Amino acid sequence: MAWHTSTRSGNGFDGSAAAGLTDAGSIWTVAAELLRFTVYVSGRRLWVTVIAAIAASLAEGTGLVLLLPLLSLVGMSFGTNSSAGRLGFYAQLLLQRSEIPRAWWLATVLIIFLGIAGLRSVLRRTQTTLAYETTLEVEMALSRRLYEAVVKARWSYLVRQRSGRLTHLLTEELRRVAHAIALLLSIINLGSLTVLYMVVAIKLSAPTTILVLALGGVLMLLQRHSLERVRSSGLDVNESIGEVYAATEEHLLNMKSVKTYNAEDRDVQLFAELCEDVARHSVRNSHLHAASAFYFDVGSLVGLGAVIFLALRVMHVQAAAMLLLLAVFTRLMPQLASIQSEMHQLASTLPSLSRVLAIEAECLRDAEVKGPELMMSAPAARLEREFRFENVWFAYEGADAANSEECVLRGVHLRIEARTLTALIGPSGAGKSTVADLMTGLLVPTQGRLWLDDNELRQENMRQWRSQVGYVGQETVLFHQSVRQNLLWANPNASEKDLQEALLLASAEFVFELPGGLESIVGDRGILLSSGQRQRISLARALLRKPSLLILDEATNALDVENEARVLDALLASMRTSANGTALTILMIAHRASAIRRADRILGMDSAGFVRESSAAAHFPDRS
Ligand code: ADP
Repeated sequence: MAWHTSTRSGNGFDGSAAAGLTDAGSIWTVAAELLRFTVYVSGRRLWVTVIAAIAASLAEGTGLVLLLPLLSLVGMSFGTNSSAGRLGFYAQLLLQRSEIPRAWWLATVLIIFLGIAGLRSVLRRTQTTLAYETTLEVEMALSRRLYEAVVKARWSYLVRQRSGRLTHLLTEELRRVAHAIALLLSIINLGSLTVLYMVVAIKLSAPTTILVLALGGVLMLLQRHSLERVRSSGLDVNESIGEVYAATEEHLLNMKSVKTYNAEDRDVQLFAELCEDVARHSVRNSHLHAASAFYFDVGSLVGLGAVIFLALRVMHVQAAAMLLLLAVFTRLMPQLASIQSEMHQLASTLPSLSRVLAIEAECLRDAEVKGPELMMSAPAARLEREFRFENVWFAYEGADAANSEECVLRGVHLRIEARTLTALIGPSGAGKSTVADLMTGLLVPTQGRLWLDDNELRQENMRQWRSQVGYVGQETVLFHQSVRQNLLWANPNASEKDLQEALLLASAEFVFELPGGLESIVGDRGILLSSGQRQRISLARALLRKPSLLILDEATNALDVENEARVLDALLASMRTSANGTALTILMIAHRASAIRRADRILGMDSAGFVRESSAAAHFPDRS
């Protein structure tokens, strides 16, 4: 899988190693992948962040080393054999050679010490800000890429997804990935500090430090299994939150049914159960975190006790050096504990990255357009003669295309003449919407060909063709915006005159009577309008695109007969008077006789997926 397009995350970065990996060993692979992606997106800023972290650690280490001359100045002796003693000695020598009077030595060393501590604080602040910006930058890049991959996936893939799950992926899971990036940066920061402490500690007593390192290594090794348990419990937490998202979205969308079925209590109960699931998994996850932190603390304390004993009794480290070593170790231990805790958090958040990458990979595999978007370079020609189905077979994904019983369309031949209104009728489930989706290029025939005049409709010209299609479906969903914004969404360049004309053609003059006119907000999914009003706005929206082919899939079924007649008559008049270059062809899927009788031709579909042609006159001999 290629990390794709248009952000700095652009070409050439391959995230396949992390996508879909869920086994224990892959935690490191995913972490490495995340780091690679962070480097890829953030580039220089990441390096500045890391350099700031290392510089801050250096300042901290230097501050620590400066403690030696400070301590020797207040009279503490380290002897001359130890590195601590030597450092103190050199510091004194330096001060003696300088012009600074002896009375000022302490103040001088203190000022330098405080200056370095101040510098460390400034560097830490810079590093914290940069780390946050890096996290945000990577999160934004990843969200954009993921959303782009989702919306550009094939329709047949998208309809199989639970939208709530995708919402979860695009919000919560991405947030967790951002958290993982922050953790990764923090671990790098803590790691650099730890290395510095180690260097100071080695200077003070190499054998003692090696002992401490060995102790740390053993503790980390013992934590391996708990890391895996935390990871799998992180997966459970994530999975249960995803279920809450999906269910909440579905139930909120169906609130009308919930209320009319008096099912509020059942609904609340279901929601509560899902939330309890999340709580149960989260509690288990936090117990695992707490338990491993506890074992790490106890282990490190016992180990440190043993190290002190061995250092004093066996290695005979001097008491003063031991004091400094303790100062270093008491700083080092919390760092190690933080690294341990952050590694556990990382383990429970990384599965989100795996999922994000896996879904992105799926979407890209199922992308509608592969490669650069060269198909949009030229506008498609308008339909001049006919749209033709030539022996078209179609089976939905999951069905056996080789088995004709499982195909929705079975060798369909049909012609839809340009500049006519064709009605497609037939029993529910016969495949009428499938025919419409094939004509818009949302679905691709399993077998057979689709012809636009003399051009075959193929993957390469499908997006171009779609710019010529206006589609109004059975369920009209508008955005929670003004009428104007909803209309302009279809054609951002439309003028005021275009808007007015489209609204009139769709018999949607009621818009001008709304209190806010075109600026009226239509509510969530257009809920503040009646379904008939929504349909007419939706039709106006489709007409604004000045389509060559207009598909009305039960698009007037929510209108009263009178309004339906007005809409269809206006469309027919526009179709018949259409001048050169604006030829309009209409395919109407409908049930009502009042709508069907206006058609020039009627195509009947049966439940076996066959289409037969008949003239309107045969159905409605009294047609005017
Ligand atoms: P119509 O519009 O005539 O009511 P459709 O074209 O919507 O019929 O559906 C035709 C058949 O295809 C139905 O049996 C339906 O169950 C099936 N179908 C529709 N959409 C899908 C899908 N996304 N996946 C699988 N089967 C589908």
